[in-house]
Amino acid sequence: MIVIGSGPAGLTAAVYAARANLAPLVLAGGLYGGQLMLTTDVENYPGFPEGIMGPDLMVRFREQAERFGARVENVDATSVDFTTSPLVVRTDDAEHRAKTVIVATGASARWLDIPGETRLRGRGVSTCATCDGAFFRDKHIVVVGGGDSAMEEALFLTRFGRRVTVMHRRGSLRSSKIMADRAQAHEKIDFMWHTVVEEVLGDTHMKGLRVRNVMDDSTFVFDADALFVAIGHTPNTGIFKGQLDLDEAAYITSSDGTATNVDGVFVAGDVNDVRYKQAVTAAAGGCRAAMDAEKYLEALEFAVAGSRQ
Ligand code: NAP
Repeated sequence: MIVIGSGPAGLTAAVYAARANLAPLVLAGGLYGGQLMLTTDVENYPGFPEGIMGPDLMVRFREQAERFGARVENVDATSVDFTTSPLVVRTDDAEHRAKTVIVATGASARWLDIPGETRLRGRGVSTCATCDGAFFRDKHIVVVGGGDSAMEEALFLTRFGRRVTVMHRRGSLRSSKIMADRAQAHEKIDFMWHTVVEEVLGDTHMKGLRVRNVMDDSTFVFDADALFVAIGHTPNTGIFKGQLDLDEAAYITSSDGTATNVDGVFVAGDVNDVRYKQAVTAAAGGCRAAMDAEKYLEALEFAVAGSRQ
């Protein structure tokens, strides 16, 4: 068995598969652990009443998988061939073959795709407050988005910035009430509604933003030192195009539990989840995929044994 991905879904699949003696190989990606490596406090993962830091949680996931014999390699899967049997998964310097593959490649932060954004990435523009927030001590920081990610980023950034402005394209938030209440009650956070960012200004460092009020269509320059984009995620399915069925937003589709359209390939976590996207639902998906894969392998062995008789 090969597991591609090492967030809560991939590593839970690895725990279950390893305990079922399937000796899974986990292609964990150059940076293992998935999105929780980029978060701070995780307060809603059951079993940690005081909360736990995202990276600490993922270290525990990995240790648990390795304890039962999963091999975790910090390499990216670069291509797959699911038209052959066994299934083929390639990395930069190896080709692996397996009877079953669990795809748990997760999702990545989305960008606004506006002028200046790429040029000033790492120079004021970021999608990761945990990674880059400390660079903006006493600065004015803008967060774009109206979901839980945006609220979380804004709250976290109050530790550093002197002021945090959340710009949202609508007049109401999408985030959960508890996160919205916390952000709206925070003295350092203010909100600009019906506002979109159209350009990031500055040559070597961000100097401000050109923004537009979508209600009256007015455009103006907003002085700020940093922009954190928190507008959701895109599934990491590039290497599966043409190999697995994807929906219109490029999420891998599944039927009958975690099965994909290819025999022996199962899917778990955010790469297949347009709706919940929680660490605990990803972990549950990993468990389901490993159990489905185990059943698939049992049926395969049974069929092979039957054909030998
Ligand atoms: P999300 O819920 O999809 O929210 C994305 C936000 O970005 C929305 O407010 C959306 O605006 C806005 N947006 C999207 N594209 C935009 C664009 N091009 N320009 C400007 N704004 C844009 O994504 P998320 O916040 O990453 O959350 C995803 C899931 O993870 C949710 O289920 C969330 O509950 C969960 N999550 C939970 C926690 C937590 O519990 N601690 C933390 C983070 C995330 P509209 O509202 O107008 O669509």
